[in-house]
Amino acid sequence: MVLLSCCVFVGQAAAQTNTVRLQLRWHHQFQFAGYYMALEQGYYHSAGLDVQIMPGAPGIAALDQVLKREAEFAVSASGALLTYLQGQPVVALAAIMQKSPSVWLVRADSGIYTLQDLAQKRLELTLSQENTELLAVFAKEGIDISKLKLSSSSMKLDNLLSGQSDAFNAYLSNEPYLLEQMDVPYRVIQPIEYGVNFYQDILVGHADWLAQHPVAAEAFLQASLRGWRFALDNIDYTVAHIHQRYAPEKSIAHLQYEARVLRQLIMPELVEIGHMNAGRWQQIAAMYLQLGMIDQLKPLDGFIYQSATEAVVDYRLLLKSVLLMLLLMSLLSFFTLRYRRLARALQAEIARHAQTEQQLIERNQELLQLASTDILTGLANRRVIMQQAQAEIRRANRYQKNLAVLMLDIDHFKKINDQHGHAAGDKVLAEFAALCLRNIRDTDLAGRYGGEEFFILLPEVDLQTAILSAERLRLAVAEHPFTLSCGEQLQVTCSIGIAMYLPQQDNLDKLLLRADQALYQAKHLGRNRCAVMY
Ligand code: GH3
Ligand code: MG
Ligand code: MG
Repeated sequence: MVLLSCCVFVGQAAAQTNTVRLQLRWHHQFQFAGYYMALEQGYYHSAGLDVQIMPGAPGIAALDQVLKREAEFAVSASGALLTYLQGQPVVALAAIMQKSPSVWLVRADSGIYTLQDLAQKRLELTLSQENTELLAVFAKEGIDISKLKLSSSSMKLDNLLSGQSDAFNAYLSNEPYLLEQMDVPYRVIQPIEYGVNFYQDILVGHADWLAQHPVAAEAFLQASLRGWRFALDNIDYTVAHIHQRYAPEKSIAHLQYEARVLRQLIMPELVEIGHMNAGRWQQIAAMYLQLGMIDQLKPLDGFIYQSATEAVVDYRLLLKSVLLMLLLMSLLSFFTLRYRRLARALQAEIARHAQTEQQLIERNQELLQLASTDILTGLANRRVIMQQAQAEIRRANRYQKNLAVLMLDIDHFKKINDQHGHAAGDKVLAEFAALCLRNIRDTDLAGRYGGEEFFILLPEVDLQTAILSAERLRLAVAEHPFTLSCGEQLQVTCSIGIAMYLPQQDNLDKLLLRADQALYQAKHLGRNRCAVMY
């Protein structure tokens, strides 16, 4: 009977075709590549979904369409969280861009260099609940948002070009390309430079719909993410398809540019596509609270989609398990009747098998963790931090951004081991690592380089700021009482070598060499200090 009802359920899920509407947040372009490819490659179709992709346009707020039940899903922005915190039934299923492409775009001859410069200027902004980070960043810098000279975006660059506006709410992957084509030099001011790092292009759905259609919702999510993986692995093919089918008005070169920039922000090499971190959403919520956009925080359980994969897989697994169990049971009873001993051995074998499988799963998870993390300090290990360094170098080259690195080495660490034992040394290393993490920005990356040496990447930081950061870190260490398990307090210092990445003429090896030489110099000059190698 159980078996029968399971069959019926699975049968229904497969046979029933669900019509699903996806509302995009802008005109067709590479920004939505994953969804087009999920459709084109038949991923939606084989998941039993009939998907309709609806382009956005000025005046259409994608998230509203979901709330009004005009669409089942939408591509929204981090502002979806604000909507949720204000009591609306919205659920985030995936964050496609790990870093936001939303920037302030200014002309290079505008004399505008910083966010502070923008405070007095005429700003064109798409005024929508979804578009929060470009305003949040002002508030974070202590600039009164109510005094900003905002006007609703004309959605075209004409005003910026003619000087009628000074800054334009742009997408890193789009408008900069248009200005490059017109030979108009420009600059971008990015919220991330000011510590505002929001997700972008969030796949959202209506909480009620998702609750009523858990199987279709999960199928849509998985097919979409598969579409994204295909799109990013096959950019030329995808661009050609988008150009031909959706956006003939956009040139192939423009779509290629968009693809290149967005791939950097999606970071498929480092992060699983769509990944969302609850802690990061909480930070975004905390920022809304700080800005007075909400009155109080609330749990984000209802906002962050709980994967129904397990449920789906469970049904299939359940069916398989039930079949297997029935088979085993009949076999068992047969053997029990005639060969009791053999049946017992078989049972034991099954149990052993299950246990070994479980051990294998656990071991695999451990290995995965081990492969990327240094166990003692919990920081990225040398391999991973070097990979991250390579990625940051590529980014620095592409966007002509600064990149600073710090090489840290604990002073006279051998003495600590000699006088207090290796275990005490280990405790100092772990505490030192935690101290480093507390004293760097969210966007900085720290790793254990080896022994008592650590390595920190400071993306988009100039030399002066790098020196300040290193000095702050050095002081934090020198002033921190390292407490041993016996209660004794130790004073520990470190030396720090600083090096800047030199665009075009540099590579990782040369950069590491200079950071190492700087560290050697800091040691040579007496330790507990920072030194720079140019
Ligand atoms: P300097 O100021 O010149 O850096 O002197 P130092 O004593 O810190 O440098 P040295 O390179 O001579 O010694 C580093 C010591 O760190 C030697 C090694 O035994 C110890 N060490 C390396 N890895 C670990 C570890 O994981 N745990 C502990 N407790 N000690 C370690
Ligand atoms: Mg050393
Ligand atoms: Mg040392």
